[in-house]
Amino acid sequence: MKPPTLKNDCFAMPAGVDWTPVDQALDLLRARLHPVVACERAEVAASLGRILAADIRALRANPPVANSAVDGFGFASDGLGKGVQILPLVAGRSAAGARFMGVVPNGYAVRILTGAAVPNGVDTVVMNEDTTFERDRIAFHNELKKGANTRKAGEDFNAGQTLFRAGHRISAADIAVITASGIAEIEVFARLKVGVLSTGDEICDAGTETDSDRIFDANRPMLLAILTRWGFEAVDLGHVGDDRAAVRARLDQAAETVDAMLTSGGASAGEEDHLSAIFKAEGQISSWRIALKPGRPLALGMWRETPVFGLPGNPVAAFVCTLIFARPALGLLAGAGWETPQGFDVKAEFAKDKKPGRREYLRARMNDQGRAEVYPSEGSGRISSLSWADGLVELADEAAQIQSGSLVKYYPFGSFGL
Ligand code: AMP
Ligand code: MG
Repeated sequence: MKPPTLKNDCFAMPAGVDWTPVDQALDLLRARLHPVVACERAEVAASLGRILAADIRALRANPPVANSAVDGFGFASDGLGKGVQILPLVAGRSAAGARFMGVVPNGYAVRILTGAAVPNGVDTVVMNEDTTFERDRIAFHNELKKGANTRKAGEDFNAGQTLFRAGHRISAADIAVITASGIAEIEVFARLKVGVLSTGDEICDAGTETDSDRIFDANRPMLLAILTRWGFEAVDLGHVGDDRAAVRARLDQAAETVDAMLTSGGASAGEEDHLSAIFKAEGQISSWRIALKPGRPLALGMWRETPVFGLPGNPVAAFVCTLIFARPALGLLAGAGWETPQGFDVKAEFAKDKKPGRREYLRARMNDQGRAEVYPSEGSGRISSLSWADGLVELADEAAQIQSGSLVKYYPFGSFGL
């Protein structure tokens, strides 16, 4: 079963809107998009990056029974004094997976190994290193609190406890938690299929012979890699030149197979911007003039019920728009809910006069003093600045002057799931 498709006007901008602030644009996307993928079962072991379609409750407590945290000797602490104790050992031992089946009488100790169930009659364990051991008895200095060196049943989580909520994205650590609770299969959303299309007569694939008037397609492999990292099924839709029939055919074909598309190039209203022209004529498109640098133009459209994010051709702008807009929007389509990156206030290692009234994202990296440096050139054709950076500095819409030492918001690329 698949949920309903999106409304055809889901990207419409209210009439008369001029420059839309970033937050307002994000609010619009958040309000209008919803999950478009069906549910399926997945093996927990193979679920890295998948999105939960249902809450997960622990099948079993962790640990299921109290066990020992060390190799040592277990005993009942009630009735023991402080100071030097000499306790006779019962025959046998408690090992991980092979517990001691009897009851340990008061005043006796039992050999116990790490991870072994704490036997009846035992509540406290003294570790090997703190004991002297003779054939059938041990001596130790008792300063232990009752329960020392044991892990209580359910101290990590209890049976029936909610471990994760629907919409959660599974990490490697989560795989350990879910597996420890005894669950081998989970209900997840089918991977969102996202196609990537490059447009423009000047674009060609690296590895092909060409003259220097042509540009190697940097966006498509970058976007495919980002989508894969986000756990989506990235579908390579190739490249089409500035030819309307070819663009139309490729979009038609893609709309049959993918849940959403990212295109780059041709999204403005210029005479060679065929993507927006064909959308205007035959699909639904809304050019979002977002008060954002680098960014404009961002075109959001629907092609045969498939949402299309028309990214700027410029690789730096395409990258930033993908992180700021496509990521939360695709996350919503994929069932992950609305994801907001976590930023940190850090001191600027730069100064800048900024035009108020638009948000800016600068390619930044943290230096050894914990301050944010920015790439020396803001030119959005500098693809290598994206590799140089380890995150983005966000300059608020209203910010005007940033001095060295001012607090700025820094978002590591990791906070965008990269
Ligand atoms: P456009 O948005 O089509 O006006 O393109 C803006 C700039 O980005 C132009 O310099 C294009 O050559 C460049 N560009 C467009 N698509 C790509 C691409 N796939 N890879 C690298 N550069 C591109
Ligand atoms: Mg172009």
